[in-house]
Amino acid sequence: SKAKLFDEKNDIKVTFKDVAGLEGAKEEIQEIVEFLRTPEKYTSIGGKIPKGALLVGPPGTGKTLLAKAVAGEAKVPFFSLSGSDFVEMFVGVGASRVRDLFKQAKEKSPAIIFIDEIDAVGRARGKNNFSGSNDERENTLNQLLTEMDGFGTNTNVIVLAATNRADVLDKALMRAGRFDRQIYVDLPDIRERREIFEVHLKPIKKSEHLDTEFLAKQTPGFSGADIANVCNEAALIAARNNKTAVDKQDFLDAVDRIVGGLEKKNKIISTEE
Ligand code: ATP
Repeated sequence: SKAKLFDEKNDIKVTFKDVAGLEGAKEEIQEIVEFLRTPEKYTSIGGKIPKGALLVGPPGTGKTLLAKAVAGEAKVPFFSLSGSDFVEMFVGVGASRVRDLFKQAKEKSPAIIFIDEIDAVGRARGKNNFSGSNDERENTLNQLLTEMDGFGTNTNVIVLAATNRADVLDKALMRAGRFDRQIYVDLPDIRERREIFEVHLKPIKKSEHLDTEFLAKQTPGFSGADIANVCNEAALIAARNNKTAVDKQDFLDAVDRIVGGLEKKNKIISTEE
């Protein structure tokens, strides 16, 4: 099958309002929005605008959402691809895709490039050499480094990359002038889970008042994605029972169901090891 080159979105509607909690991360990433909006403010006094930042944190915590919000807030195009897409590519294809991606983004600058699962291409070189496709991965990684070094600080393309395994990344990626900033995106605490529920409850028809503090208490360890999932599952459960609005019991049933799913997933992971 022919993998997509990369995805380009020119009209991202996501803003910081859609990202609940994550105050620290939002504050740090706000700076990148400013760089995209008014680069001259920084460059005219001799400042160098950073080329990249790494979003680090567990799955489903809102890294992609946050990167989209940067593009939405700055009103710039959002180019995205996933590191795992490169793994299946033929020799020579990965590097040329990276080249094309940067070329397109530069033409449309200011712009954001978002690379999800950068660890799939960015693992330390010379390790885990059993896949056979390793040379191709290294070529792709080298091309990425070349592109980041090659564009000047006035290009105004900022590369955001996400990973939940910063520890396995090639140190070359983190060198000055590349992904020299790391932004941590952690699992939400109880207060943040409440805020995430508030965001995802909004479009749902409720038959009674739902106490978000209670819901947050029922969901320790849940990510933002898990919470979004709970809200949707609750709506589906209610509809399945021919209700026209969602009640508290539907939410509790949805939480049980998601907890069951998470336990199963953890079990599979632990027996794999
Ligand atoms: P992965 O590492 O699995 O790619 P991620 O950290 O990029 O995950 P997202 O894809 O951004 O996570 O999150 C998935 C969905 O979960 C979002 O589209 C959103 O609906 C919901 N979500 C996650 N975090 C938040 C949050 N902080 N506020 C609101 N919604 C959130």
